Amino acid sequence: MTDPTLAAPHTPADLPTRIQHYIDGAFVDSQDGDTFDVLDPVTNRVYLQAAAGKKADVDAAVAAARRAFTEGPWPKMLPRERSRILHRIADLVESRDARLAELESFDSGLPITQALGQARRAAENFRFFADLIVAQSDDTFKVPGRQINYVNRKPIGVAGLITPWNTPFMLESWKLGPALATGNTVVLKPAEFTPLSASLWAGIFEEAGLPQGVFNLVNGLGEEAGDALVKHPDVPLISFTGESSTGQLIFANAAPWLKGLSMELGGKSPAVVFADADLEAAIDATIFGVFSLNGERCTAGSRILVQREVYDEFVERYAAQAARVKVGFPHDPDTEVGALVHPEHYAKVMSYVEIGKSEGRLVAGGGRPDGFDDGNFVAPTVFADVPPTARIFQEEIFGPVVAITPFDTDEEALALANDTKYGLAAYIWTNDLKRAHNFSQAVEAGMVWLNSNNVRDLRTPFGGVKASGLGHEGGYRSIDFYTDQQAVHITLGKVHNPTFGKN
Ligand code: NAD
Repeated sequence: MTDPTLAAPHTPADLPTRIQHYIDGAFVDSQDGDTFDVLDPVTNRVYLQAAAGKKADVDAAVAAARRAFTEGPWPKMLPRERSRILHRIADLVESRDARLAELESFDSGLPITQALGQARRAAENFRFFADLIVAQSDDTFKVPGRQINYVNRKPIGVAGLITPWNTPFMLESWKLGPALATGNTVVLKPAEFTPLSASLWAGIFEEAGLPQGVFNLVNGLGEEAGDALVKHPDVPLISFTGESSTGQLIFANAAPWLKGLSMELGGKSPAVVFADADLEAAIDATIFGVFSLNGERCTAGSRILVQREVYDEFVERYAAQAARVKVGFPHDPDTEVGALVHPEHYAKVMSYVEIGKSEGRLVAGGGRPDGFDDGNFVAPTVFADVPPTARIFQEEIFGPVVAITPFDTDEEALALANDTKYGLAAYIWTNDLKRAHNFSQAVEAGMVWLNSNNVRDLRTPFGGVKASGLGHEGGYRSIDFYTDQQAVHITLGKVHNPTFGKN
């Protein structure tokens, strides 16, 4: 018999009804008392009021973080001491993974099994940077008998971290891990659609022994709290993940202060399937690639380019499998696609579904799934024969919607793959070794997966080209972003002094 609790919306036990900021080790309301509504995506009912931070709240958070940086122990601690605290954070996240996943899934609509995977990945991010920081070595250059030069790596100060709603807790950990490991202090501004899981960080950090003031969190809208953080003169670094258009705005707003910027932006990544590929594996991977995380995935393979010889077979099998992808309540462990995060985002994705109907041939989905009359549910939707001029080929939809386009030659495939403003990821399916490497190297994408799903090794560079981002994090590159590499030069021999003004 099926479990009746899986056939109705689920509300986690002990859900908070309000969320505050966390500044200098204390939970506080906004100075002006303002709050904003938070909805759950299955019923779209307001279940929570979150403090709406403004400039005054950001000023207080930055002042606390600045004090913790200039007067506190954190930046001066041995890497091993910081590493121990980071490992404790990872242990705590791991030990609470089920609760974290439950809250995340409720707040964001992500399927519970995928939210659980993201919670574990968050722990792994802390563990990875905890290990990396103790293994960190820096360059020393010897000029025999004359000079020795070394790199003095230093934390920079207060890092402003601004994150999106698609995998909130995991993406926050992706920034918090390296920012804290390197000795910076932080102010986090999480996405306003999904503030619930971020409210757990403070307790985890306190329990792990992170000194007061090192971590600060200000909730609020992007144009208010986010904007104040970007424009704060005492925040020299901004690490941002979100839409390309927001990235452009932040870039301009940060320019007067010449801030360090790390920008992880949008995508419209191609999955290119050649006729010689393992079709079964390619179909499984490209289904997962666009429908996992509800399609709300920056690296989603949302354009599938298929070689003409196998095109009809691919489309037929792909559409049949997409129609079998299980849409369900986010808390059901069998659910493969849950509810989109927010009614505004649902309306945007649905508008693209309608646009797609006049731009391509609808072969699966195309609206609400049967049996889901409320909430932000979208059936996995597949359009075939989509021309590159179509909006659904060019624009990021960020939902369970995919465009399939045929090609004949390698050259045509490459031109189609590169024919968008984005350049985040590319997925290539072929068994021809030469083609695989040549295509991978020519495609305009920050990351390429060859005959592979999106499986990421934390040591590799992460980031996009073109409108998909600026700078690469991942492994030591994240350490480089969050530190300054000061060059110190020492004379060993006779002082090299061209003498001016002697006589
Ligand atoms: P968004 O740009 O709307 O918001 C992201 C964050 O920026 C939020 O916290 C928001 O409050 C804040 N913000 C908005 N306006 C701001 C402003 N003027 N100043 C400062 N902060 C501001 O993005 P979203 O809708 O939350 O997330 C979806 C987008 O994120 C998609 O485009 C997706 O591709 C992208 N994304 C990229 C990656 C990556 O690594 N490249 C990863 C995940 C998501």
